[in-house]
Amino acid sequence: MSIRTENIEVNFDLTLKKDLEENEEICPKCGGAGLQVSDNPFGLASDKDKYSEMFPHKKQTIAGCSHCYNGVQRKCAHCNELLGRKGWCDCTGYKNKQTEKQYLKDLEKWNKALKTSVEEHLKEDYTYMLYLDNYGQFFENIGDVIEFLQDQIEQGDIEISNITNMRLFKTNQTSLSFDVQSIIESATEELHDNAYENTMEHQEELQEFLNTFAEKMKKSTLTYFPNWEESIVISPNDLK
Ligand SMILES: [Zn+2]
Ligand SMILES: [Zn+2]
Repeated sequence: MSIRTENIEVNFDLTLKKDLEENEEICPKCGGAGLQVSDNPFGLASDKDKYSEMFPHKKQTIAGCSHCYNGVQRKCAHCNELLGRKGWCDCTGYKNKQTEKQYLKDLEKWNKALKTSVEEHLKEDYTYMLYLDNYGQFFENIGDVIEFLQDQIEQGDIEISNITNMRLFKTNQTSLSFDVQSIIESATEELHDNAYENTMEHQEELQEFLNTFAEKMKKSTLTYFPNWEESIVISPNDLK
């Protein structure tokens, strides 16, 4: 098979209107058209010995510019660099701003939570784990948290004055469970019209059976989630 090449002239004679926000600029890659030439390269089996490239031919067409959206790029508010299609920047100013935003978000979550002192917490009878938000770590009990923080101070990673910034949350736990109705529903989907009702008459029997099984799996499926509503306040005195 042989290839023939045709050249197509494309002329757009039109004017595009762009209403730009302050941090937006016309994309320098496409000049604001929002378009670029896409090669769509291809090769033929018979090309193998004739060309060094795998795809020596092209079916060029016009596609959306891969450096912008609608011919417009946003500028980073911190270093003024054009961001292409990215929603973020690598510069220090941008990173600092993100860190600050995250800090404020964490702080807001912490401020909203109900607070218990370590002393009060020690009087509680609890089986849940604790979540130290600053480190993204779960702990068995408050003793382990304090030991961990003492280690951090000893290693010089934090100072005793940082202790008041620790955001320790209680957790909720959940483990394997089954919803009999939805199990029967999906199991009888393809069966005759009364299969669902007939089976639902015995749902209690199945629920009991599944509960026993879930209980057996409880320990190995137990999962903890931070309870953002309840927290424990650690003071420097708790570490002494
Ligand atoms: Zn562009
Ligand atoms: Zn930047």
